[in-house]
Amino acid sequence: MEIIKTTRLTKYYGKTRGILGLNLTVAQGEFFGFIGPNGAGKSTTIRTLLGLISPTSGRARVFGKDVAKERTSILQDIGYLPSEAMFYPGMKVKELLKLSADLRKRDCGGEANLLCERLRLDPSRRIGDLSFGNRKKAAIVCALQHRPSLLVLDEPTSGLDPLMQKEFFDILRERNREGATILLSSHILSEIQRSCTRAAIIRDGRIIACDSVEVLSKTSAKRVTVHGAADLSRLSGIRDKKESKESVSFLYSGDMGRLLRALASGQVHDLTVTEPDLEEIFLHYYEKGGETV
Ligand code: ADP
Repeated sequence: MEIIKTTRLTKYYGKTRGILGLNLTVAQGEFFGFIGPNGAGKSTTIRTLLGLISPTSGRARVFGKDVAKERTSILQDIGYLPSEAMFYPGMKVKELLKLSADLRKRDCGGEANLLCERLRLDPSRRIGDLSFGNRKKAAIVCALQHRPSLLVLDEPTSGLDPLMQKEFFDILRERNREGATILLSSHILSEIQRSCTRAAIIRDGRIIACDSVEVLSKTSAKRVTVHGAADLSRLSGIRDKKESKESVSFLYSGDMGRLLRALASGQVHDLTVTEPDLEEIFLHYYEKGGETV
């Protein structure tokens, strides 16, 4: 079943482009990544999906329901972590969590305590006294405590230290194994690469690639690192060259035979050929101005 489906979803803020003709589908049980640099349109997509802003045109469906018509019932089963969470500073964490649960007419006390323990968040502290990272944790507990079947997380890890990021992703993977669908937006590619099964890359308000993380990670280019000396000047298909005294490293999408011949006539001490990481692939999609899907 499709948990999220957008059809030509478009949002303009006055004359400013938010998102343009977005077709995005997330199936039940997916851990889906939404990658793009700041300003690409991730938050706009997410806010439109939750009915927090209205699209200029196009449609969004969540759980098979039209967001414009059935927003309240959709939100009952979503956990949303906004990119910038704002809370009443005078409230204690536990009061905030109780309020959030009450708004859903749920008793989530047990789950909230477990999450606070795992994330090392003291529920008796006042929100106004918390660091940015601890406020983020409070927002995470708010999003997770009612065990929703869809988690929508907008840049969730900013402000969390590495240990807490790991704990947070452990929790997300557990929830995903138990059946929750997850939409995670990030500009940090390693996060997506580690956790997500499928991902969409968004640029300038359009989706430019959408596939399994495995497929997105595969381009014909390889990262080649050569230690020693070789004349590569006549080879085509070399990009992103980094040179030091002892070695040269580059992305290569040309003919392998020609590369090997060029290396054989040089003085090569060591050679590695690896798949490029998602960061490099991401740049590749951006540079080539990929096809809109
Ligand atoms: P991302 O989440 O990928 O960083 P956003 O969805 O926040 O991107 O922004 C997409 C585009 O829409 C940007 O050009 C941004 O300036 C614009 N935008 C976002 N929110 C607003 C707003 N409330 N008013 C005007 N323009 C906005």
